[in-house]
Amino acid sequence: MNLPGFDFSLQRQDMVRTQLRARDITDTAVLRALETVPRHEFVDPVDWDEAYEDHPLGIGCRQTISQPYIVAYMSQLLRVEPGMKILEIGTGSGYQSAVLAELGAEVFSVERHADLSEKAGKVLLKTGYADKVKLKVGDGTLGWPEEAPFDRIIVTAAGPKIPDSLVGQLAVGGRMVLPVGSTSQRLRLIEKTAEGVREENDIAVVFVKLIGKEGFLTGE
Ligand code: SAH
Repeated sequence: MNLPGFDFSLQRQDMVRTQLRARDITDTAVLRALETVPRHEFVDPVDWDEAYEDHPLGIGCRQTISQPYIVAYMSQLLRVEPGMKILEIGTGSGYQSAVLAELGAEVFSVERHADLSEKAGKVLLKTGYADKVKLKVGDGTLGWPEEAPFDRIIVTAAGPKIPDSLVGQLAVGGRMVLPVGSTSQRLRLIEKTAEGVREENDIAVVFVKLIGKEGFLTGE
Protein backbone atom coordinates (compact mmCIF):
# COMPACT_ATOMS: atom_id res chain seq x y z
CA MET A 1 0.00 0.00 0.00
CA ASN A 2 2.77 2.39 0.92
CA LEU A 3 3.80 3.07 -2.66
CA PRO A 4 5.02 6.47 -3.78
CA GLY A 5 2.24 8.12 -5.72
CA PHE A 6 -0.47 5.80 -4.38
CA ASP A 7 -3.29 8.23 -3.62
CA PHE A 8 -5.93 5.96 -2.04
CA SER A 9 -8.66 7.56 -4.17
CA LEU A 10 -10.40 4.21 -4.73
CA GLN A 11 -10.41 3.55 -0.98
CA ARG A 12 -11.91 7.01 -0.47
CA GLN A 13 -14.64 6.43 -3.04
CA ASP A 14 -15.45 3.11 -1.39
CA MET A 15 -15.56 4.73 2.03
CA VAL A 16 -17.97 7.41 0.79
CA ARG A 17 -20.24 4.86 -0.89
CA THR A 18 -20.39 2.19 1.80
CA GLN A 19 -20.02 4.18 5.04
CA LEU A 20 -21.59 7.56 4.20
CA ARG A 21 -24.06 7.39 1.28
CA ALA A 22 -25.33 4.00 2.50
CA ARG A 23 -26.17 5.65 5.82
CA ASP A 24 -27.67 9.12 6.11
CA ILE A 25 -25.04 11.46 4.69
CA THR A 26 -26.77 13.29 1.84
CA ASP A 27 -25.02 16.69 1.76
CA THR A 28 -23.15 16.55 -1.55
CA ALA A 29 -20.51 19.07 -0.47
CA VAL A 30 -19.72 16.95 2.60
CA LEU A 31 -19.57 13.75 0.50
CA ARG A 32 -17.25 15.48 -1.95
CA ALA A 33 -15.01 16.78 0.85
CA LEU A 34 -14.57 13.31 2.37
CA GLU A 35 -13.86 11.95 -1.09
CA THR A 36 -11.16 14.60 -1.54
CA VAL A 37 -9.25 14.93 1.76
CA PRO A 38 -6.42 12.34 1.94
CA ARG A 39 -7.33 10.85 5.34
CA HIS A 40 -4.30 8.50 5.35
CA GLU A 41 -1.97 11.51 5.60
CA PHE A 42 -3.51 12.29 9.00
CA VAL A 43 -2.68 8.88 10.53
CA ASP A 44 0.58 7.03 11.15
CA PRO A 45 1.86 5.25 8.00
CA VAL A 46 1.67 1.91 9.87
CA ASP A 47 -2.11 2.43 9.92
CA TRP A 48 -2.47 3.38 6.24
CA ASP A 49 -4.15 0.10 5.38
CA GLU A 50 -6.89 0.98 7.91
CA ALA A 51 -7.10 4.71 7.18
CA TYR A 52 -10.40 4.41 5.25
CA GLU A 53 -12.07 1.84 7.49
CA ASP A 54 -15.22 2.36 9.50
CA HIS A 55 -13.64 3.11 12.90
CA PRO A 56 -11.48 5.63 14.79
CA LEU A 57 -7.69 5.22 14.93
CA GLY A 58 -5.06 6.17 17.50
CA ILE A 59 -3.04 9.33 16.77
CA GLY A 60 -0.75 9.43 19.84
CA CYS A 61 -1.17 11.09 23.27
CA ARG A 62 -4.02 8.53 23.88
CA GLN A 63 -6.21 10.47 21.42
CA THR A 64 -8.04 9.36 18.27
CA ILE A 65 -9.03 10.53 14.80
CA SER A 66 -12.83 10.02 14.62
CA GLN A 67 -14.54 7.42 12.46
CA PRO A 68 -15.13 8.87 8.94
CA TYR A 69 -18.92 8.64 9.40
CA ILE A 70 -18.82 10.80 12.55
CA VAL A 71 -16.68 13.44 10.81
CA ALA A 72 -19.18 13.49 7.92
CA TYR A 73 -22.20 13.46 10.25
CA MET A 74 -21.00 16.41 12.34
CA SER A 75 -19.92 18.34 9.23
CA GLN A 76 -23.39 17.82 7.74
CA LEU A 77 -25.12 18.88 10.97
CA LEU A 78 -23.07 22.09 11.00
CA ARG A 79 -24.38 23.22 7.57
CA VAL A 80 -21.10 24.82 6.50
CA GLU A 81 -21.11 27.44 3.78
CA PRO A 82 -18.00 28.73 1.97
CA GLY A 83 -16.42 31.71 3.68
CA MET A 84 -17.75 30.89 7.15
CA LYS A 85 -15.52 31.33 10.16
CA ILE A 86 -15.43 28.09 12.16
CA LEU A 87 -13.97 27.34 15.59
CA GLU A 88 -12.94 23.73 16.21
CA ILE A 89 -11.99 22.45 19.67
CA GLY A 90 -9.72 19.38 19.55
CA THR A 91 -7.45 19.63 16.48
CA GLY A 92 -6.10 16.11 17.06
CA SER A 93 -4.78 14.86 13.71
CA GLY A 94 -6.11 17.91 11.82
CA TYR A 95 -8.41 15.77 9.65
CA GLN A 96 -11.70 17.41 10.68
CA SER A 97 -10.06 20.84 10.17
CA ALA A 98 -9.04 19.80 6.64
CA VAL A 99 -12.60 18.64 5.86
CA LEU A 100 -13.99 22.01 7.01
CA ALA A 101 -11.34 23.84 4.96
CA GLU A 102 -12.26 21.70 1.94
CA LEU A 103 -15.87 22.88 2.48
CA GLY A 104 -14.57 26.42 2.00
CA ALA A 105 -14.46 27.56 5.63
CA GLU A 106 -11.86 29.57 7.43
CA VAL A 107 -10.95 27.32 10.37
CA PHE A 108 -9.59 28.22 13.82
CA SER A 109 -8.66 25.06 15.71
CA VAL A 110 -7.50 24.70 19.34
CA GLU A 111 -5.65 21.66 20.76
CA ARG A 112 -4.35 21.16 24.30
CA HIS A 113 -1.51 18.81 23.31
CA ALA A 114 1.28 20.87 21.70
CA ASP A 115 2.82 17.85 19.94
CA LEU A 116 -0.49 16.89 18.27
CA SER A 117 -1.02 20.49 17.15
CA GLU A 118 2.49 20.64 15.71
CA LYS A 119 2.05 17.34 13.85
CA ALA A 120 -1.35 18.47 12.52
CA GLY A 121 0.22 21.72 11.32
CA LYS A 122 2.79 19.81 9.27
CA VAL A 123 0.18 17.55 7.66
CA LEU A 124 -2.11 20.49 6.88
CA LEU A 125 0.83 22.16 5.16
CA LYS A 126 1.68 19.03 3.19
CA THR A 127 -1.94 18.51 2.10
CA GLY A 128 -2.45 22.14 1.08
CA TYR A 129 -4.89 23.30 3.79
CA ALA A 130 -2.52 25.35 5.97
CA ASP A 131 -3.62 28.74 4.62
CA LYS A 132 -7.24 28.04 5.61
CA VAL A 133 -6.56 26.59 9.08
CA LYS A 134 -5.11 28.56 12.01
CA LEU A 135 -3.93 26.46 14.94
CA LYS A 136 -3.53 27.35 18.60
CA VAL A 137 -2.36 25.35 21.61
CA GLY A 138 -4.41 25.84 24.77
CA ASP A 139 -7.63 25.10 26.61
CA GLY A 140 -10.31 25.12 23.93
CA THR A 141 -13.16 25.12 26.45
CA LEU A 142 -12.42 28.85 26.69
CA GLY A 143 -12.65 29.24 22.90
CA TRP A 144 -10.60 31.76 20.92
CA PRO A 145 -11.99 35.13 22.15
CA GLU A 146 -9.72 37.28 19.93
CA GLU A 147 -11.28 35.73 16.81
CA ALA A 148 -14.93 35.59 17.99
CA PRO A 149 -17.71 35.59 16.91
CA PHE A 150 -17.78 32.34 14.91
CA ASP A 151 -20.47 31.27 12.43
CA ARG A 152 -20.00 27.67 13.46
CA ILE A 153 -18.37 25.86 16.39
CA ILE A 154 -17.51 22.15 16.49
CA VAL A 155 -16.13 20.37 19.54
CA THR A 156 -14.54 16.97 18.93
CA ALA A 157 -14.11 15.85 22.54
CA ALA A 158 -16.86 15.32 25.13
CA GLY A 159 -17.27 17.46 28.24
CA PRO A 160 -19.76 17.22 31.10
CA LYS A 161 -21.69 20.30 29.92
CA ILE A 162 -21.91 22.89 27.16
CA PRO A 163 -19.07 25.40 27.79
CA ASP A 164 -20.58 28.88 28.37
CA SER A 165 -17.53 30.53 26.79
CA LEU A 166 -18.26 28.75 23.49
CA VAL A 167 -21.94 29.73 23.50
CA GLY A 168 -20.76 33.31 24.11
CA GLN A 169 -18.43 33.18 21.08
CA LEU A 170 -21.11 31.85 18.70
CA ALA A 171 -22.50 34.45 16.28
CA VAL A 172 -26.22 35.19 16.17
CA GLY A 173 -27.55 32.87 13.45
CA GLY A 174 -24.73 30.44 14.31
CA ARG A 175 -24.73 26.69 14.96
CA MET A 176 -22.61 24.63 17.32
CA VAL A 177 -22.26 20.82 17.39
CA LEU A 178 -20.66 19.07 20.35
CA PRO A 179 -20.74 15.77 22.24
CA VAL A 180 -21.79 16.05 25.90
CA GLY A 181 -21.70 13.41 28.66
CA SER A 182 -19.40 11.17 30.64
CA THR A 183 -20.33 7.47 30.67
CA SER A 184 -22.86 7.98 27.88
CA GLN A 185 -22.57 10.84 25.44
CA ARG A 186 -24.88 12.50 22.99
CA LEU A 187 -24.30 15.04 20.27
CA ARG A 188 -25.99 18.35 21.02
CA LEU A 189 -26.92 20.94 18.43
CA ILE A 190 -27.02 24.55 19.60
CA GLU A 191 -28.61 27.29 17.51
CA LYS A 192 -28.25 30.92 18.47
CA THR A 193 -30.92 33.34 17.24
CA ALA A 194 -31.83 36.91 18.13
CA GLU A 195 -34.50 35.40 20.44
CA GLY A 196 -32.05 33.20 22.33
CA VAL A 197 -30.28 29.83 22.36
CA ARG A 198 -32.02 26.60 21.31
CA GLU A 199 -30.62 23.18 22.24
CA GLU A 200 -31.41 19.84 20.66
CA ASN A 201 -30.25 16.30 21.41
CA ASP A 202 -28.90 14.21 18.58
CA ILE A 203 -27.28 10.76 18.21
CA ALA A 204 -25.33 8.80 20.85
CA VAL A 205 -21.57 8.97 20.30
CA VAL A 206 -18.22 8.01 21.87
CA PHE A 207 -15.52 10.68 22.07
CA VAL A 208 -12.37 11.19 24.15
CA LYS A 209 -12.70 13.57 27.09
CA LEU A 210 -12.74 17.34 26.78
CA ILE A 211 -10.32 18.40 29.49
CA GLY A 212 -10.22 22.01 30.62
CA LYS A 213 -11.68 24.76 32.73
CA GLU A 214 -15.20 24.33 31.26
CA GLY A 215 -14.76 20.60 30.57
CA PHE A 216 -13.60 17.75 32.81
CA LEU A 217 -10.93 19.08 35.15
CA THR A 218 -8.79 15.91 34.92
CA GLY A 219 -8.84 12.32 33.67
CA GLU A 220 -7.27 11.51 30.33
N1 SAH B 1 -10.89 16.47 15.39
C1 SAH B 1 -9.84 15.49 15.61
C2 SAH B 1 -10.26 14.47 16.65
C3 SAH B 1 -9.50 14.74 17.86
S1 SAH B 1 -9.79 13.77 19.29
C4 SAH B 1 -9.39 14.84 14.33
O1 SAH B 1 -9.99 15.10 13.27
O2 SAH B 1 -8.42 14.10 14.36
C5 SAH B 1 -10.07 15.08 20.44
C6 SAH B 1 -8.94 16.02 20.69
O3 SAH B 1 -9.39 16.98 21.63
C7 SAH B 1 -7.70 15.37 21.31
O4 SAH B 1 -6.59 15.62 20.49
C8 SAH B 1 -7.56 16.07 22.68
O5 SAH B 1 -6.24 16.28 23.08
C9 SAH B 1 -8.29 17.37 22.40
N2 SAH B 1 -8.78 18.08 23.59
C10 SAH B 1 -9.35 17.59 24.72
N3 SAH B 1 -9.68 18.60 25.56
C11 SAH B 1 -9.31 19.76 24.95
C12 SAH B 1 -9.38 21.15 25.30
N4 SAH B 1 -9.91 21.58 26.44
N5 SAH B 1 -8.90 22.05 24.42
C13 SAH B 1 -8.36 21.66 23.23
N6 SAH B 1 -8.26 20.37 22.85
C14 SAH B 1 -8.74 19.43 23.69
